[in-house]
Amino acid sequence: MVSAEIVIKNFEIVNELLLVSFSDNSEAIVNLKTLRERCPCASCAGETDALGNLYKGPEQKLIESSYQISGIQPVGYYGLRPFWKDGHNTGIITGELLKELSD
Ligand SMILES: [Zn+2]
Repeated sequence: MVSAEIVIKNFEIVNELLLVSFSDNSEAIVNLKTLRERCPCASCAGETDALGNLYKGPEQKLIESSYQISGIQPVGYYGLRPFWKDGHNTGIITGELLKELSD
């Protein structure tokens, strides 16, 4: 059986960067600012309905603490949920997205 899922093995925050290692021994290094700007949650990225209309929450004013992380919670083996210091925590970053955003 082949799984297409990208499994997160380890992660840590070093200064402004999130370092993630995956079970296939690849790594992702993502700037926290990029991570927040690409937050995939419904209120940041929007949700598309069956007709293709995009619904988005009100534009959020990002402040300095919006780019700082107070903690990260693993979501299964496939994702990470950052707790941003401005109180935002609804985005789940998948391994796939981490690889896409990696420098
Ligand atoms: Zn968000």
